[in-house]
Amino acid sequence: MFKSKLKPAYPVADPALYIIGKWEELDPIFAGRLAKMAKDYRAQIKLTEGYRSSARQAELYRQYQEYRRTGKGSIKLAARPGTSWHEFRLAIDTSTQPIRGMPSIQLQKYGLCKPIKSEPWHIQPLETAGRKDYKNWEPIWQEEEMVTETKIMVDGKIKTVKRILKDGENYIRLRDMDDVLGVVKVEYDEANKVAVVTD
Ligand SMILES: [Zn+2]
Repeated sequence: MFKSKLKPAYPVADPALYIIGKWEELDPIFAGRLAKMAKDYRAQIKLTEGYRSSARQAELYRQYQEYRRTGKGSIKLAARPGTSWHEFRLAIDTSTQPIRGMPSIQLQKYGLCKPIKSEPWHIQPLETAGRKDYKNWEPIWQEEEMVTETKIMVDGKIKTVKRILKDGENYIRLRDMDDVLGVVKVEYDEANKVAVVTD
């Protein structure tokens, strides 16, 4: 899951209910703000474009360069790769009304803005308006470490232990090795601040 660097300073709603498209790829707070705006206008924002990989940005830029050279093609403007907020999960494009028709100022109370005058479909978080320090705002990917329960057979008997599954490996709670499985004895050595495991 992505951890946002945006401040939780604006109301949010559940993007699953108010955004159509790959909202999971967006900054989560940004997506929440968009959802709240959509909710208030009784709309569902359809993403024409959300997160865009750098490879795709490079391809769009190539098409734009070709348009400039030949006058042919449909990509009449594209940011240089590494300079589009779409690549940092902090921009969307939408044609959903009434949002597309709204002026930037109307989006402010949701912590959103339309920083490009010629692109009324393009929305960003307010904090990123006019900025180029992309990396300072890009959300951080964090593995979700979920504790679940799993069953293990020990000497023919089924036992339930708590575990974390990460990268295909099982991590079993040390205390369960003693309490539940009884395969080892686990004690805590207060003086040395270590767990003592004995067979
Ligand atoms: Zn855009």
